[in-house]
Amino acid sequence: MSLQLERTDVLIIGSGLAAVTVALHLPDTFRVLLVTKGRMTETNSDLAQGGIASAYLEETGAAHVQDTLAASKQTARADRVRLLVEAGRDVVRDMEQYGVSFDRDGDTYALGREGAHGTSRIFHVGGDETGRHVMATLRDRLPNNVHVMEHVLIDRLLQSEGRVMGASGFKGEARIQIQAGAVVLATGGVGGLVDWTSNCRAVTGDGLVLAKQAGAKLSNLTNIQFHPTLLAVETPVLVTEALRGAGATLVDAKGRHVMRHHPLGSLAPRDDVAAVLTAFPGQVYLETSRVERLAERFPKLAASCRAHHLDASSIPVRPGLHFQMGGVAVDAEGRTTVQGLYAVGEVAETGVHGKNRLASNSLLECWVFGKRVAAAVELLDCDSGEKGGTAYEMTDEVFQSFRRQIGKWLTISPAIDEIRSFLENTQQLTRTKHVTRQLAEQTLQLEAARLLAHAFMEREGLDEPIGTARSTDTVFA
Ligand SMILES: Cc1cc2nc3c(=O)[nH]c(=O)nc-3n(C[C@H](O)[C@H](O)[C@H](O)COP(=O)(O)OP(=O)(O)OC[C@H]3O[C@@H](n4cnc5c(N)ncnc54)[C@H](O)[C@@H]3O)c2cc1C
Repeated sequence: MSLQLERTDVLIIGSGLAAVTVALHLPDTFRVLLVTKGRMTETNSDLAQGGIASAYLEETGAAHVQDTLAASKQTARADRVRLLVEAGRDVVRDMEQYGVSFDRDGDTYALGREGAHGTSRIFHVGGDETGRHVMATLRDRLPNNVHVMEHVLIDRLLQSEGRVMGASGFKGEARIQIQAGAVVLATGGVGGLVDWTSNCRAVTGDGLVLAKQAGAKLSNLTNIQFHPTLLAVETPVLVTEALRGAGATLVDAKGRHVMRHHPLGSLAPRDDVAAVLTAFPGQVYLETSRVERLAERFPKLAASCRAHHLDASSIPVRPGLHFQMGGVAVDAEGRTTVQGLYAVGEVAETGVHGKNRLASNSLLECWVFGKRVAAAVELLDCDSGEKGGTAYEMTDEVFQSFRRQIGKWLTISPAIDEIRSFLENTQQLTRTKHVTRQLAEQTLQLEAARLLAHAFMEREGLDEPIGTARSTDTVFA
């Protein structure tokens, strides 16, 4: 198979807001290569609905800090939260300088409110289509030193003497090897590993696997957020929490308020609402009669309801996998524990979310920490030969059966027996050196799921910590 060779100063893997923020802020003297698995727009960032939380219009950031810590039940790192919120007060002005035009009501910003926010501080664009608009505007502003390659799947990081020096993978079906002075992982979360998800299907935990292979520390992988309100249809889409901020309430088939026992009602923190809805015996609906101008303010939702012939005044919902709070451990500048490797966005664990992310804090995190990574990146000499990888040898049918199995245990209350059987079954797989793009992609997904499975077992006291001999040897033989 032919091998395409590339050389760059900084390689960014991903094309969501984290990747684009780094690319926009790196010195323009650097040659930057941004690669992404599918099309540039196939990201969770493009799907973002509610908006970006910022204390821009508040006198201080204190209340935003407090809400973030309270939503995390004090499990987030207070120092990192303060950093996020304080630096995040500039996000609106910053993005406006790049041409982003936040929604307004006359002369003032049209602010949204979401669960566990004590006030309205969510800045949005195009109603519930914030991600699509923000990303299109920012991508248009990428400077000439940034070269973009779509349809590049990265399946290995190149290393020498413990440092990361680039990456290799597939461009289309052909092998590609990219030498780089620094590598930034911006590969997003894990939601695409299962069907009941709000996430883009390209986002499957690959960054966790790449980082782990390189020897980087991962942390708190079991901190996964389930969103309470996905549209209850075959291919679910998110129903933004901003709808509840605008007056919608969660009710049962008889119109009784499902969150009536919580002091914050339908606007309780996500984990609380998702737990109640998961345990609820019947179908839950979003009752929207109090939401003014729904179709105008939530055009994406209105279109989804029309497409599924649903009445937008009573929308059936159910929880699904949404966001990973844990990930690749990083310092405040996005440095991982391996030289030459940085991580940013949902793949990274900055500590700002703890066990439960406050709504609309993650686009903020991408922007704030993306800028910090761009300022911190140091270029190392890169010179490394191709190291051929291996992949699990399996048919598509076998892979699909594993995916179904993952869907059974990667839930709000993971079933240990299912996890154990998944680990045992995947352990039987053998490896091949004849790696195709499809096998590489599927192998990354199974390895990401195995990392999560080991983390859940470890949490239950049933496994050695991931990274100790048995689990690493098994997963990365
Ligand atoms: C439906 C939905 C609505 C949301 N709404 C909001 C909101 O309103 N406000 C908010 O703050 N947050 C929201 N979130 C969360 C937020 O959108 C994400 O956390 C954030 O966009 C993550 O950005 P990212 O750049 O880290 O990753 P992503 O935007 O997910 O991008 C990851 C990129 O990595 C690429 N990639 C992955 N693996 C590989 C590989 N092996 N090789 C090459 N490329 C690879 C993918 O193709 C993709 O381009 C929402 C999420 C969803 C799913």
